[in-house]
Amino acid sequence: MKASAKEMRAAGYAAVDRVVAHVEALEGMAGWTGARRAELEKLELGIPAAPRPAAEVIEQVEEEILRYMARPAHPRFFAFVPGPGNFMGAVADFLSQGYNVFAGNWFAASGPAMVELRTIEWLAGLVGFPETAGGVFLSGGSLANFTALAVARDRILGEERLSEGVAYFSDQTHSSVERALRLLGFSRRQLRKIPSGDDCRIAVSSVRSAMEEDRRGGRVPCCVIANAGTTNTGAIDPLSELAALCRAEGAWLHVDGAYGAAAAICEEGRRLLEGVEKADSLTFDPHKWLFQPFDCGCVLLRDGSLLPRTFYSRPEYLKDVGDNPGEPNLFDYSPELTRPFRALKLWMTLQVFGEDAMRRAVEHGLEMARYAESLVRASENWVIVTRAEMGMLSFRHEPPGVSSERVDEWNREIGKRITASGFAVVLSTELKGRTVLRMCPINPRTTEADVRDTIRELDRVARERAVRLPGAGRGTKPSRD
Ligand SMILES: *Cc1c(COP(=O)(O)O)cnc(C)c1O
Repeated sequence: MKASAKEMRAAGYAAVDRVVAHVEALEGMAGWTGARRAELEKLELGIPAAPRPAAEVIEQVEEEILRYMARPAHPRFFAFVPGPGNFMGAVADFLSQGYNVFAGNWFAASGPAMVELRTIEWLAGLVGFPETAGGVFLSGGSLANFTALAVARDRILGEERLSEGVAYFSDQTHSSVERALRLLGFSRRQLRKIPSGDDCRIAVSSVRSAMEEDRRGGRVPCCVIANAGTTNTGAIDPLSELAALCRAEGAWLHVDGAYGAAAAICEEGRRLLEGVEKADSLTFDPHKWLFQPFDCGCVLLRDGSLLPRTFYSRPEYLKDVGDNPGEPNLFDYSPELTRPFRALKLWMTLQVFGEDAMRRAVEHGLEMARYAESLVRASENWVIVTRAEMGMLSFRHEPPGVSSERVDEWNREIGKRITASGFAVVLSTELKGRTVLRMCPINPRTTEADVRDTIRELDRVARERAVRLPGAGRGTKPSRD
């Protein structure tokens, strides 16, 4: 289990060369390549007893394994929240893994902990959190939501009132929130999923009346989970008003900015996110709109000292790690004990490119979304469903004389076709009972031409179907795979 210096270099350089070639070639590749299980069963992936040359294994990894995947860094990958990544982030991952950093405590990795503190400080500064703020890097938004809500639960309810607490959030909230609350001991009757308005935002008055009703029933409003950029449409809940309501009610305000918090780096985003600085906690995923390789999530608390109050534990085998003021042991800040040095990739990206380049990259996403909106508006039979705000938009093809149900089916099919063609990845979502296509063009490598060609291609696919659809009856049902 030991490679010589020569072998390490050869394998490492081969990997770097392949990654660089891949990044350079991305634009000409398909945005997505998938395969069915039966096909992949044919690959020779069994574990050998005897060694194989690393070069051969690396080649197999690239040719056979990494071939079958979506390419979320592709300039025409517009589905979900793309993962543009960036090479310096990947280099940072290689460094931290080559050194095998254990970023759990100060004793084990004080240098890395210092970088993590500085990077958290920078993120907290972007959203206008006070000096008391603190946080920790995590695997992603799901764990960040969980971590923040665990603190909210302990802070507001403690153990005695756990079964009386109620959490409020809109129907546009990411599914990880409900899952986190369930794992934290909230039963379904302690969750208030509030229908959002036509603008996909939660109405403060609905939260207020739900809280009043709960108080009358002897329950305790525990926390509101607000969105700073929903996954569906980028909608931002009224953060300032919700903060005021929470303060008045003694409830916790958690803001899920997994996707959208990054917009705070630029002027326009800061305006849109007004009030985010009043949150008690915030989820912020640098592996989304700050272009980090997976995984890189983060939770920020306006009072960072609350994290160890929920997560601190010191079993006998960890007694020697030390507890010095100002030298945090970050395994006391979340459910993770062993944890990688995730902060390095964001820190290194910012060192190499600088904050201004990061700002411009985020602004580019806002512009590309607006550009896409203008093109959709100019296309016949296409309608904008939600406007380009926060770097995403939704729209659909609505040819005259076709029932709404058929239009739903049809738009889903348009997304499947363009994605299967490999040209671009555009998929659907559902909004207020309607199926819409959705684009999130935040990749800094995405050009106007990428956006233009994609809209043109969508229109071409849509027209093809339009000839056959009305009254066609059979043969229009989209295939399920
Ligand atoms: C992506 C996303 C999450 C989940 O984050 P992961 O990193 O996938 O765990 C949570 N909330 C929002 C709003 C998101 O966009």
